[in-house]
Amino acid sequence: MTATILTIGDELLNGDTIDSNSTWIARQLGLIGIATREIITVADEKKAILKAFQNGLTESNLLICTGGLGPTKDDLTKECFAEFFNLDCKENKQLRKRLEQYYTNRGYDKSHVTKKMVSMPEGATILMNNFGVAPGMWQEKEDKILVALPGIPYEMKGLMKEEILPRLKSEFSLPSIYYHYFMTAGKGETTLAKRLETIEANLPTGFSISYLPSFANVKVRLSAKGQDSSLIEEKLKEIVPQIREKLSPELYSENRNESLVKALAGYCTENQVTIGSVESCTGGNIAHEITALAGSSSYYSGSIVSYSNDIKKNVIGVQSQTLENYGAVSEETIREMVKGGLYRLNCDYVVATSGIAGPGGGTKQKPVGLIWIGVGNSKKVKTKCFNFTKKREKNIQLFTMMALNELFRFIKEQEIQE
Ligand code: ATP
Repeated sequence: MTATILTIGDELLNGDTIDSNSTWIARQLGLIGIATREIITVADEKKAILKAFQNGLTESNLLICTGGLGPTKDDLTKECFAEFFNLDCKENKQLRKRLEQYYTNRGYDKSHVTKKMVSMPEGATILMNNFGVAPGMWQEKEDKILVALPGIPYEMKGLMKEEILPRLKSEFSLPSIYYHYFMTAGKGETTLAKRLETIEANLPTGFSISYLPSFANVKVRLSAKGQDSSLIEEKLKEIVPQIREKLSPELYSENRNESLVKALAGYCTENQVTIGSVESCTGGNIAHEITALAGSSSYYSGSIVSYSNDIKKNVIGVQSQTLENYGAVSEETIREMVKGGLYRLNCDYVVATSGIAGPGGGTKQKPVGLIWIGVGNSKKVKTKCFNFTKKREKNIQLFTMMALNELFRFIKEQEIQE
């Protein structure tokens, strides 16, 4: 079974409202084995809505639309729904009773319930809305289904969960569908895809891998679809560990959409590990990212923003000679920043950053975008150099993410060895 999702409303086309309904619906359908073929948005116009119904149901077996079910003049979905199936609209007594009760409970007069609100296409299945006023509608014709739901996301989700998804699952023999997520940081999609090349080429039918990059990480999704769920589960048990192993240097979580900093927080809490930071070019952004999560005080000691050389020397303990000989942005300095941080912050692990965020300050040897990241504990200090962009804001974000990534990787390496 395939689906088309149609969202209706001028506000979606003029940018006033972001269409969050379609992505949510597509995901829910995907989870029960229905692939969404297209997502369309149209204006509050009768002609456009009818055309979208026609096209959508030519393309797919199921069309779910949201919006335009309300009582105002620009709400045309009900009228179009009735016209599309050639149904008459008549007062629905059960709905009138329900709405009169709804409004009296809220201190309104019964006359608040208008004719338009209770007039419903006769013969269609009316899906009472326990989350608001406008009911949803379901109508089947030959092997096609049209479902209309309210536009308010909370109401739409309520009806989807209570009515639509259970109906689809019980009425149709849908394939089982599974997703497994690998959240990675530190390498781009091309590198990751190259590493999974052989696994990908030998995937069983119904299995596929997608690479979904965002700002500083790549979400790798393994999808599996088929009628035999036990066979899929068996295959997943084989394939998931293979992918996990290949991605292990960059893999920080297998929870869908979990952020790096959240995964780090979980690890520190679970393993009772404390961390701290010594920041130069990130200017406290590492501290900001970590402390944005509630509960961070249990594992995060704090940060020293040693922006100037004076603070690097006087607070962190970087040697004057190191700064003179190698400069603030150097492997030697970053090593001393990690060591000084471990002493000052009294924590198990420290991450330190020193780089050139730009736009000024770059040289041929040390261009804008260059950063030294150091991570360490009482036994070992590890350093790495990266080169990013020419844009200051982007650099600070990337420096921060890479520093957190290096810290997390180092902690895991060390904890495994112990
Ligand atoms: P109701 O009758 O319950 O008011 P409705 O079906 O008439 O709902 P609309 O009037 O089209 O729905 O929209 C109601 C609200 O829901 C509006 O604030 C709108 O911005 C929001 N909304 C509509 N469609 C979407 C969408 N696709 N994604 C997110 N929000 C939406």
